[in-house]
Amino acid sequence: MHDPAAFRSLHVERFQAEPAIFVAPGRVNLIGEHTDYAEGFVMPAAIQFATLAGVSPRTDGKIVIYSENYGEEKTFDAAALPPTRHREWTDYPLGVMQILAGEGHTIPGLSLSLWGDVPLGSGLSSSAALEVATALAVESLIGVSYPGPVVARLCQRAENEYVGASCGIMDQFISANGQENHALLLDCRDLSFRMAPIPNHVALVIANTMVKHSVAGGDYTTRRAESEAACAVIASHRPGVKFLRDATLEDLEKWGHEMAPKSLMRARHVISENLRTVAAAEALLRGDMTELGRLMAAAHWSYSKDFEASCIEADTMVELAQDLPGLIGARLTGGGFGGCTINLVERSHAQEFSHVLGKRYTEKMGIVAEIHICHASGGARRIS
Ligand code: ADP
Ligand code: MG
Repeated sequence: MHDPAAFRSLHVERFQAEPAIFVAPGRVNLIGEHTDYAEGFVMPAAIQFATLAGVSPRTDGKIVIYSENYGEEKTFDAAALPPTRHREWTDYPLGVMQILAGEGHTIPGLSLSLWGDVPLGSGLSSSAALEVATALAVESLIGVSYPGPVVARLCQRAENEYVGASCGIMDQFISANGQENHALLLDCRDLSFRMAPIPNHVALVIANTMVKHSVAGGDYTTRRAESEAACAVIASHRPGVKFLRDATLEDLEKWGHEMAPKSLMRARHVISENLRTVAAAEALLRGDMTELGRLMAAAHWSYSKDFEASCIEADTMVELAQDLPGLIGARLTGGGFGGCTINLVERSHAQEFSHVLGKRYTEKMGIVAEIHICHASGGARRIS
């Protein structure tokens, strides 16, 4: 289905209209976890798994959205979009339309087809791919073309304000602005970014643990609240500190005793992760893969021990990779509590690495992992 011609036929058969087709990629974060909403640094890359959105105008004032992944078609009134979420997959495209409407655009009647091969809910950001693909599709009908960083912000707002997920800007930003064969170092404070080339001899091996734990009280939102509470303690002494981006490890030494123990641990992760992420980009820019791998390993254990956002499956997947030939660095990627690990691997070893890692994981955990050998891909664009 990644074949745009097959996707076009799907849209034409269902809606009897020629679609404009857009693609937006999923992503893998090389380093920089839970730093984006602290106005810190992240370094993701777009991957070849992506969402396609096909759009054509309608004259009946309806918005009809079809997802090939869900095999479901839903109809809404363009003049009366649902003001709040329904806790369904349609929240994502409707959220994007609501945000665009809030920017003063009239959303016309339209048919929207969606299909994606980003594994849903695995930490590779199928949600951002869906939002960004939808944004480009709807923009094309209303006759606007926002720059990538603006598209990212609008889509983040759709997920925050409409879907109700308190995500940072990373996922939408990389989906909208990724570049083939590059990672993107993003400063989430001012959205300035720098592309860092990923050498040809390095593959991105993504290993899905196939688990997603929803730990009671231990989810993304709780972690965010804990790290923000630590920030508030530092800010009470140093009013210039608005986000953990502004804080230092020295601040934790001075005032950590005033924080709840968990808050201190979360903040230690976020502050040290910012340092590691900038250092990782510098290592990548000078081609120092050994240092990059070392920083990824440190990032994993900080995420696991201080942020407590890993799980036995992800820790096992990282540990099982350590002595495999070709490994540069491995860590859990994404929001945490399961999902995928990212392994930077010498491309010549990638096949064998994936095979042995999968075998070991099954032996140890009794779970068959999905392992993908990926490369850094381009960002969202129109493809026909
Ligand atoms: P992730 O972004 O890590 O994949 P999320 O929970 O943030 O996980 O987003 C997954 C949700 O996004 C799905 O449950 C579904 O509601 C929606 N989604 C993603 N891709 C599609 C698609 N192609 N069609 C319909 N809904 C989709
Ligand atoms: Mg998501």
